[in-house]
Amino acid sequence: MKDQLDLSNSESLSNSSKRFTRRKFISLGLLGTLGLTGGYVAMDNVFGNQGTKNSGQKLVRPNFIPTPNKWSKDDVTVAWLGHASFLINFFGTKILIDPALDSRIGITPIGNLTIGPSRYIASALTSDEVGPLDLLLVSHAHTDHFDYPTLRNLQSPNTHVVTAKNTLPLWNGINFKSVEEMHWQDSKSLSGVKVTAIEGKHWGARIPWKKGMEANSLLLSKNGVNIFFGADTGYTELIKQQLSGIPIDLAIMGIGAYSPKSFEDKHATPEQAWKMAEEMSAKWVVPMHWGSFNLSREPMEEPILRFRQAAAGQIEKVVIQETGGTWIRPR
Ligand SMILES: [Zn+2]
Ligand SMILES: [Zn+2]
Repeated sequence: MKDQLDLSNSESLSNSSKRFTRRKFISLGLLGTLGLTGGYVAMDNVFGNQGTKNSGQKLVRPNFIPTPNKWSKDDVTVAWLGHASFLINFFGTKILIDPALDSRIGITPIGNLTIGPSRYIASALTSDEVGPLDLLLVSHAHTDHFDYPTLRNLQSPNTHVVTAKNTLPLWNGINFKSVEEMHWQDSKSLSGVKVTAIEGKHWGARIPWKKGMEANSLLLSKNGVNIFFGADTGYTELIKQQLSGIPIDLAIMGIGAYSPKSFEDKHATPEQAWKMAEEMSAKWVVPMHWGSFNLSREPMEEPILRFRQAAAGQIEKVVIQETGGTWIRPR
């Protein structure tokens, strides 16, 4: 998402948004100076005019609720929990990606108090319901992907964590079996899964001056099956080049937060997301990063409508289209 206090982007915004941005920036800066934040913010809402639009709105329950306790270790099972959060059973290895499972995302100035946009649709599972995890993968430090309250709830001595380059300090005080940074093209074998960090077209700074924080897309491989998780990325041929012909079974692609036009560079449009999935010859595709939070200016349903249009003629490849949807790889 376009999700940080990056003042360079403010030219695309309305005057009222700019005023809001400056006020917010000053107050957040103050909180930071006082050492009260657990990380300020990384979300476009701080700039946009829709940050609190759905405040107080009742959460919609997802139509589908995954049942991970019934999943077979012989399968590859993928459940979309909402936004960019996925629970995956990779032949018995339990993986959670970019979990933001609470009712809000945003800054956490005191404990787990979160100031930021609330959800439209509840996460399909709570932190307590995802069950034991082998791997927790966090693509980058923007608040819709790196949610402190959720991460604190998930602490476990049995879970390995992978985080982007230069984001390790953000994990201070949160306890897992291991927390390792991965830079683009790094590969690691963890809990039987080969994890490879891929360079997309995004950025990872949680606060503007931490420019060294990177953003990863991810390739997960086990037993000859490859899952690509795009995370946040604009359209780029870099991804295809780095995958260098590896057959992708499932591509999980972000399709939202592309409006206004200036966002498109870092968040692919639905058509561009489909094009990237096609370029990596993905057998199946899951669209994500739409429908959960109001983070940008396109209407909430527009990304999936446009994505379906882009996939027309091959729509059978699109295997999850609703929050809570679960896909089992055909054996
Ligand atoms: Zn995002
Ligand atoms: Zn992002």
